[in-house]
Amino acid sequence: MPIYEYHCNECGNDFETLVFGSQEVVCPKCSGNVNRVMSCCSFKSGAGDFKTSGSGSSSCSGCTSSSCSTCH
Ligand SMILES: [Zn+2]
Repeated sequence: MPIYEYHCNECGNDFETLVFGSQEVVCPKCSGNVNRVMSCCSFKSGAGDFKTSGSGSSSCSGCTSSSCSTCH
């Protein structure tokens, strides 16, 4: 499953979503422009390892940052 992590430029919302093909992604909160976050976690851990804990944002075993910006 192509799960990508996005960061909203408008309200700062971080979220993950499934993207198929060239589907356009907008923020689910404000429909603003988003940047795709090239998270190492999603690619490394694979779909089976992907955890959705109740912490709000995603995190991985490689780092504790919610954006994983420090581990790639
Ligand atoms: Zn937003």
